[in-house]
Amino acid sequence: MDKRSFIKLSGMVTAGALITPSLTFCTNGEKQVDQNNKPAFEKFILPTLPYGYDALEPHIDAQTMEIHHGKHHASYTSKLNAALEGRDSFYGMQIEDVLDRLTADDDLVAIRNNGGGYYNHSLYFETMDPSGGGVPGGILGEAINARYGNFESFKDEFSNEAKGVFGSGWAWLILDKNRQLQISSTPNQDSPLMKNIVETPGTPILGIDVWEHAYYLKHQNKRSDYIDAFFSVINWDKVAARFSSATK
Ligand code: MN
Repeated sequence: MDKRSFIKLSGMVTAGALITPSLTFCTNGEKQVDQNNKPAFEKFILPTLPYGYDALEPHIDAQTMEIHHGKHHASYTSKLNAALEGRDSFYGMQIEDVLDRLTADDDLVAIRNNGGGYYNHSLYFETMDPSGGGVPGGILGEAINARYGNFESFKDEFSNEAKGVFGSGWAWLILDKNRQLQISSTPNQDSPLMKNIVETPGTPILGIDVWEHAYYLKHQNKRSDYIDAFFSVINWDKVAARFSSATK
């Protein structure tokens, strides 16, 4: 039963003290249950890209997008489902709640890696757009200016964090537990939502994938060129909607 479906920004679930903007939801709005009236196993599905593989050219090339979404994100999705099957304490949960509950226990490492990969890529792909780029306005723009002085200073700090990730990982703009904007990074596929695992937990507002698979075909070893290209396609309307939901 593939009841978990496409990305939706307006839905919200509660995670800790913050409201986490939800990326996924049950299409029928009801939990699937087994014969004992307990939540049943439901597969997460690969979100459909809201634009074509070539839509972010020339900033992000079509071949990278096709492999990244069609192979890597698809693989995290199927491996997450395989890892969750039979683990009924996780049944019926949104992905945000799965990540919120995880610990660094060896027994949970497949859910950690693939659940993080599933969530992080869902967020990454939906916060880019061919008409993106520029500078955020509204309350997000004001909050960035208040925290970092101006947009350029924010961009520098975020870019430096992304450049500084050693090996594979992500850089983030999050809303932390004190409801403060923070720039942070995580190794591998760890997500800021993994509050029991990561150094700086919070609600991710924006994230950049700095695994080489995100940029190597076009930019090879030049990660900073890819970071600049990413800033040309950030969908600030979506990012601002996530910020608004998280700060409500
Ligand atoms: Mn990736």
